[in-house]
Amino acid sequence: MATQLTPRRWLNLQEYQSKKLMADNGVKVQRFFVVDTANEALEAAKKLNAKEIVLKAQILAGGRGKGIFSSGLKGGVHLTKDPKVVGQLAKQMIGYNLATKQTPKEGVKVNKVMVAEALDISRETYFAILMDRSCNGPVLVGSPQGGVDIEEVAASNPELIFKEQIDIIEGIKDSQAQRMAENLGFLGPLKNQAADEIKKLYNLFLKIDATQVEVNPFGETTEGQVVCFDAKINFDDNAEFRQKDIFAMDDRSENEPIENEAARYDLKYIGLDGNIACFVNGAGLAMATCDIIFLNGGKPANFLDLGGGVKEAQVYQAFKLLTADPKVEAILVNIFGGIVNCAIIANGITKACRELELKVPLVVRLEGTNVHEAQDILSSSGLPITSAVDLEDAAKKAVASVAKK
Ligand code: ADP
Ligand code: MG
Repeated sequence: MATQLTPRRWLNLQEYQSKKLMADNGVKVQRFFVVDTANEALEAAKKLNAKEIVLKAQILAGGRGKGIFSSGLKGGVHLTKDPKVVGQLAKQMIGYNLATKQTPKEGVKVNKVMVAEALDISRETYFAILMDRSCNGPVLVGSPQGGVDIEEVAASNPELIFKEQIDIIEGIKDSQAQRMAENLGFLGPLKNQAADEIKKLYNLFLKIDATQVEVNPFGETTEGQVVCFDAKINFDDNAEFRQKDIFAMDDRSENEPIENEAARYDLKYIGLDGNIACFVNGAGLAMATCDIIFLNGGKPANFLDLGGGVKEAQVYQAFKLLTADPKVEAILVNIFGGIVNCAIIANGITKACRELELKVPLVVRLEGTNVHEAQDILSSSGLPITSAVDLEDAAKKAVASVAKK
């Protein structure tokens, strides 16, 4: 069984931030303001001077439309023709928690609301661009049945999911954009409009080093316009050096404090439900480590990703963070030293063990650059560290150490 891990992205943008990027790049989104008080919401509604206004709670989770506020208000997305109601609605949104099927049960606090021009949507489709490993590049994914849960459509009507593989060197072809627009069910002049939006979204995807641009609904209005009504963008972490403006927008307000603490040391922390802490380098290795713990009957408590270019002090901080979690009953270190030097990790581990007076079993699997020196450091340390020869062995030993307790 493979684990269903969908860790939060390193960089999180709210809908309004994604839409700003889209609007700046010529993609069609509705006019909007972002506010954090009810008064501002009312002012924004007046300025928009639209026939109808939509208020949208800004939280990172999806499924807002069907969410419920702790104030009792139903729906994280509200339409109204009466600007006076805008203030009242905003009052029941801002400062309250919104629970959706993608949030924890208690929901997530809403600090900002988007006040936008509402449009009469006649049809909702789904459109996304993903960087897809199995296609070795970007792929367009679309369905004429949008607005709803796309996973449901994929499960019940897989024939309604259309894909278009893009050659990243050649770029998107007109014929591909047109075919997708047609598959999404856009007819007549709407087909060209939709194809045009698709091309603009693709150009944006490339320009901002996205790994995913998802628009659901990608809708058509009764007035014959194709509009991106919702937006979720994920970014390639490795592109941070050339996307500084975007990464500076990172919204960490919904992170766990521990995630932010980890970020201070350039570490990525993902909390999970089990009791075995995983200390790894690289997201792929993190997933594999979690999978193999599950396969051996254990449960990961979290994982902390060191990334490349590690310093000894970071290893110490990592241990401090991992052991601060009371759920943790054992630690599994699984590091593959490619860029990372195993000896640095080993020194960091022994230092952390001594200074933090580690109380839980520690299983270490190191592999790669300088591994022999690293093993010598660990074995001559006199510390109760269990060495493992490979990932399987490490997982078995970690699971066993927890079971013994
Ligand atoms: P979520 O995906 O979090 O539920 P959406 O932004 O997709 O949030 O909004 C939910 C629904 O609200 C959409 O499917 C659409 O029907 C409606 N909606 C969103 N924005 C507008 C708008 N500007 N005008 C009219 N309806 C809208
Ligand atoms: Mg949506």
